[in-house]
Parts: sequence; structure tokens; C-alpha cells
Amino acid sequence: MTSIFRPTFHSFLALGMLLPLLVGCQKAEEQAVSDAERAPAAPAAQAATMPTKVDYRAANELGRVPVLEYHRFGPVEERWTRTYDNFRRDLEWLYNNDYVLVNASDFAAGKMNVPAGKKPTILTFDDSTEGQFRYQHEADGSVKRDAKGQPVLDPNCAIAMMDAFHAKHPDFGRASTFYVLPEAFEQTKESSEKLKYLAATGREIGSHTFNHANLSKLQPAQIRENLAKAQAEVAKELGASFEFQTLALPYGIFPKSDEGYQAVIKGAALGQNYHHRVVMLVGADPAPSPFDRKYNSAKVPRIQAIDDEWTRHFARKPGATARNEERFKPFVSDGDPGKVTFPSKLKERLGAAFAAQANAID
Ligand SMILES: [Zn+2]
Repeated sequence: MTSIFRPTFHSFLALGMLLPLLVGCQKAEEQAVSDAERAPAAPAAQAATMPTKVDYRAANELGRVPVLEYHRFGPVEERWTRTYDNFRRDLEWLYNNDYVLVNASDFAAGKMNVPAGKKPTILTFDDSTEGQFRYQHEADGSVKRDAKGQPVLDPNCAIAMMDAFHAKHPDFGRASTFYVLPEAFEQTKESSEKLKYLAATGREIGSHTFNHANLSKLQPAQIRENLAKAQAEVAKELGASFEFQTLALPYGIFPKSDEGYQAVIKGAALGQNYHHRVVMLVGADPAPSPFDRKYNSAKVPRIQAIDDEWTRHFARKPGATARNEERFKPFVSDGDPGKVTFPSKLKERLGAAFAAQANAID
């Protein structure tokens, strides 16, 4: 499939536009985590959360996992803006097509707790734009609060739309990953409360660098400083033990040098360690299964959640919510966290680390 470079909407992106998507990405074999770190947990370790139903017949855990990428939300559909109604229909379509939500680091770790016959998808939100998470305000500018003192959300922000969908369909889940910039969601005074809300409702908070940096323009030491600062800022709100598990590259651009590449994944500066176990690109295909030998946790592709891409990958007509078949072979869970089940003809694709969990079916 052709990969089209998809710049973000930031005004300072012009210089990045001509760069190919994977500029400077060397060492395709280098991973952000080792295979051992993403081996499925032993069944006993997950017994408490293990779905009761197991079904190997229709499972394909070497199928692809769509990682959807959102930026802005608004009343009018634009290149980097999804309308409120289209987002609601996206959720509806996913639900009607047997998808359930997982977050980026559970996906990357191969620890997706997905019931038999269901397919994982990851909703990712970049840049912590206001439309992703907006509070309502009183006339005097203060946050509107309910009788319990909880902030009242704008029903058209992504979080409120997901919460409303989850209330109707709890089995869909509301796991998702927010790649935030410090001073998240543009309502600066409220960033702290919002980050806590995300953490408390099972959303994952990932790094998008400290200031939306084009990492190919920075020296390794600057990269380490930038990424350590981003983590320290969020840890101020969520507690010193908070660590990013995942990072989305601004513009999808890696630094050019090998040292820079390593500095994106793991490092320390200003007395702060960080380790991004999964690194997200900007485009442009469904991601390989974490059990696929071709899976690279340092370069996980995503799909822009816009009509053209929904059509291209999902054969979904704009606005459609009814069930239809994707254009790729999706990951379908067996419901058994201790096994990796796949059609036997795909056995060559299984990553070596998962041989002990392999369950080839005919
Ligand atoms: Zn961005």
C-alpha cells in the first residue's frame, strides 16, 4: 500500500512537509521493547480478568490492528478536524464491527484483554487540543460544576462523546491513548484536573514531546532533555511514579542519527529517566500484530481517522455505521491471553518469542 505523508496541522510544519514519512529511520530491526517484554502473560497471572469465553476457530492473532489517529474536533470536517457527528459514527461503526478499545501500551505489550471473536483497535489523540476535552464554563469564566463538584464536560468533546458511548455500551470500553503536550487541552488552568480525569478513567497518557519538537532538528542531548522535561511536567500532576509508556513522534519524524533514534526510545536527563516502549508514526496503514515477526514497537503505523482513510482501509462509506468487511485481515482475539492463535498458513509470520504460546489452527 502506498504511504502518504500526513503532516499535522501545526502552523510550523511547512519544513516537515517535504520530508518522507520515515526520514532518518534506520535500524528497522531495533525495537523499543524486547520480544520477552511483550510475551503474553501466563494464564494464571491474568486469571482474574480473563474473559470466560474462549473460541479458537475464528481467531487470527496475527491479523492487523488499526491504530486510529485524531487531532481536532469541530462542527466542520477538515483535513485535521473530525466533526462531532462523524466521531460518534466512528465509534458506532467500530462497535458494530466487533471492535473493542485497548490502549497503546497494552497493545504493544501483547496484553490485550479482548474477548473471543472481538478485534482490538486503539484510538489515539494527538496534541491535546481543546476539542478532545473541554469543560463548560459559567458566565464569569469559572468551570461549571455539578452538584458533586465535578466539572461538566462539553457534550461535543471527544472524551464526553466516548463516555456517553461507553455508558450505553460498556463492553466497548473506553481505553484510549492521549499524546499530550504540557498545558494540555488548551484550557491551561484546567490541565491538571483533566490529566487526573484521564488517568482515573482508564485512559493512557503518552508523550508528544515537550513542545511538539521536530526531533530531526535536535541533537541527542537536546532530545533527551526535551523528552525528560515532558515526562517531568506530567509527573508533577500525576505523581512522581508516573512514566510515559508511549510516545507519538511529532510529524512522524525520527532524528537522523542512530544516537538520536536511541534517545527517542530511552534516556535520562535532568535527573529523570524515560522509556517509550511503543513509538507511534503519523501514517498510514493498519499496524502489524505485536506477535508478528515484522512488528516493530519503535515504528507503529497509524491511520488518520478521516473519510478517505476509512474508505481506503475499512471500505466504509462516509458516515456509514453498518457492519461491513475491512480491506485488511484484522486481528481477531481467541479470548485466551495465554495463547497466540492464528490460521496455520500464517505460521511463518509468528515472532520467535511467541513459539511457546503458538496455537496454529486449520
Ligand atoms: Zn502533533
